[in-house]
Amino acid sequence: MNIDSITNGIVIDHITAGNGMKLYELLGLGELECSVAIIKNASSGKIGKKDIIKIDADIPVNFDVVGFVDPNATINIIKDGVLVEKRNIEMPEHLVNVIKCKNPRCITSCEQEIDHIFKLTDREHNVYRCIYCETKAN
Ligand SMILES: [Zn+2]
Repeated sequence: MNIDSITNGIVIDHITAGNGMKLYELLGLGELECSVAIIKNASSGKIGKKDIIKIDADIPVNFDVVGFVDPNATINIIKDGVLVEKRNIEMPEHLVNVIKCKNPRCITSCEQEIDHIFKLTDREHNVYRCIYCETKAN
């Protein structure tokens, strides 16, 4: 892919088509001052269509969030216009304060101070459950 437009930054590549916006929101990229580009439905030989996110700044990205939304994504780190690191993503065992439990009776819905923690319970099907009430995420 063309990374010429980025000098220092991060490219999240091979995002399953349709997951780009979700990742954009969960990573809080809309709050950044730097330029962020989302390319939707780019053609990719390997997976057909894919989304790509380009972040034109060297910011810390929460790789757990990327692994949760799309474990097939890859992260490319660009420095001085050169690809310096390419890393594969894995599904994290735990997700802390990324998503919120939907169960209105869950302790996290009543108590403001509690961390929202989800645990990976089924790696094959990408299933996360709230550690307090076991409600499924998504
Ligand atoms: Zn819960």
